Parts: sequence; structure tokens; C-alpha cells
Amino acid sequence: MLSNNPDKSGPQAGLKGKVAIVTGGGRGIGREIALALAAQGANIVLVDVDEKTLKEAEAEVSARGGSALGGKAMSIKADVTSSADMEKLADEAMAKFGSIDILINNAGITRDNLIMRMKEDEWDKVLTINLKGTFNCTKAVSRYMMKQRSGRIVNIASVIGIAGNVGQANYAASKGGVIAFTKSAAREFAPRNINVNAVAPGFIQTAMTDVLKEDVKSKMMERIPLARLGTPKDVADAVMFLVSDASSYITGQTIVVDGGMVM
Ligand code: NDP
Repeated sequence: MLSNNPDKSGPQAGLKGKVAIVTGGGRGIGREIALALAAQGANIVLVDVDEKTLKEAEAEVSARGGSALGGKAMSIKADVTSSADMEKLADEAMAKFGSIDILINNAGITRDNLIMRMKEDEWDKVLTINLKGTFNCTKAVSRYMMKQRSGRIVNIASVIGIAGNVGQANYAASKGGVIAFTKSAAREFAPRNINVNAVAPGFIQTAMTDVLKEDVKSKMMERIPLARLGTPKDVADAVMFLVSDASSYITGQTIVVDGGMVM
């Protein structure tokens, strides 16, 4: 079993030589996933729209992978909503590293509002980044994975895409869409030895949830049987399982990481 906990067990070389693309890798859950992949020696391609966080993440990820296991990191400022950006990203990753073994579709946003008040733009933005972005990047990367006849794709969905939530109809639709997309992609790519799965986090402590009001946060806490908020590492741990050899017979599934909130 692979370990991604460098603090406890030291660096593991389980992904040495593999190449992983992480969208929305500049901060939060994406950065944590990139760090976990780097800790096992993978070469990392970080993708984000925010250049500042992207450069910070690149330095941190390089230090984690490069110093211990020789893995390299590069960052590309790109928007997942642009299919041209995603094609270019896949080409650049191939040119630099020679393969793409892992894709983590993590970039995502919220624009919460009640349906009655939701503006068309709030609907469109969330669906375009969260759902179309996942399609764009998967399509671009799958060209290469299909030729390689191997690959792992992990899509970051949300428990809201399973259970729904007041004020998040756009987000719920996008993440429910990601789960359905995951199943279709898993069926399409299985003959080429490409596994496609999703991770559905619950309430994870990041910039995305920091903005929530205290009363909203404490209401959420009441619904979590394990009685704590999740951390980006909780999500990264599930992702690491899905990119490891230990999950080679699993595809089209969604692993819920939410402390038991939705069951
Ligand atoms: P963050 O907002 O902290 O990070 C998301 C990153 O994605 C940001 O750096 C953001 O850049 C980037 N991004 C946004 N739009 C684009 C785009 N068009 N192209 C490329 N990058 C983009 O969010 P989290 O780390 O909390 O969330 C990561 C994923 O996990 C998301 O898909 C989210 O929906 C999902 N998730 C999060 C949960 C949570 O509780 N935090 C719960 C369930 C799911 P910028 O800062 O410029 O917007």
C-alpha cells in the first residue's frame, strides 16, 4: 500500500517518473493533492488562473518532490474553460515530460444564491468552470492517455452533487454532472486501461469555505458525525488511493470524503 504521508514515514517513491496534471493547483485542495503526488516522486504540472498562487505552489511542490525524489514541477497559467488552453496545456506537458499519467480535475468555484435570485451569469460561470472545465481538460489529456493505453483521472466533485443544497443549485448541478461525466468517461476509456473516478468532499477547510458565515459553519458541523471539518489532506489521501496500484480494479466510482455527512 502506498503512503502519501511524508511527515510520518518519509518520502515514498511510488509514483516516481509519473506525470500528473492538477487543475486549480495554486491553492487549497489542488495544492495539497499536488504536494501529496510530489511526495511520491511524480512530476507535477500545476494549472491555475491565479499567477501568484501558482508560482508559490510551484516552489512548494518543487521543494517537496525535487529535494527528495527528483520529481519536477512546472506551472502553466491556463483557464479550464478554454478548450484551446487545455489542448496547449496537454501539448506542453507532453513536450516537457514525455507522458501524462494522472489528471486531477480539481478547479472549481461557487457562486451561491437561491434559485429565485440566481443570475444567469452565476449559473453559467459555475457550470462552465466546474463541468465544462472537467470535460475540456479530460478531452485534451485523453488524446495522449489513449495512445499510451494507460492513465488515471480523478475528478473532484462534491457531496452537494449527490445530496443537493439550498442556495447551491448551480454548484449541485455542476458537481452532479461531474459524477455522471465520470461514469461515462470510465466506460469510454476502460478499454484503453484508463481508470476514471471521482472524489466527493464534504465540508473542507479552504478559502472556498472560509467565506461562509459562522452560523452556517456551525450548522454544517452539526451534520457531520465525525464532528470535525475536513482538511485538504483528507481529500488528497482519497485521491492518492485512486491513483495508486491498490485501486487498479476500480473505475466509474465516487468516493465520499465528508466525515459521514451524507450516507
Ligand atoms: P479554492 O477556491 O481554494 O481553489 C480552487 C482553485 O481553482 C483556485 O486557485 C482558483 O483560482 C482555481 N480556478 C478557478 N477557476 C479556474 C479556472 N477557470 N481555470 C483554472 N483554475 C481555476 O477551492 P478548494 O480548494 O476549496 O476547492 C477545490 C475543488 O474541491 C473544487 O472543485 C471544489 O468545488 C471542490 N470542493 C471543495 C469543498 C470545500 O469544502 N472546500 C467541498 C467539496 C468540493 P482563483 O483563486 O483565481 O479563483
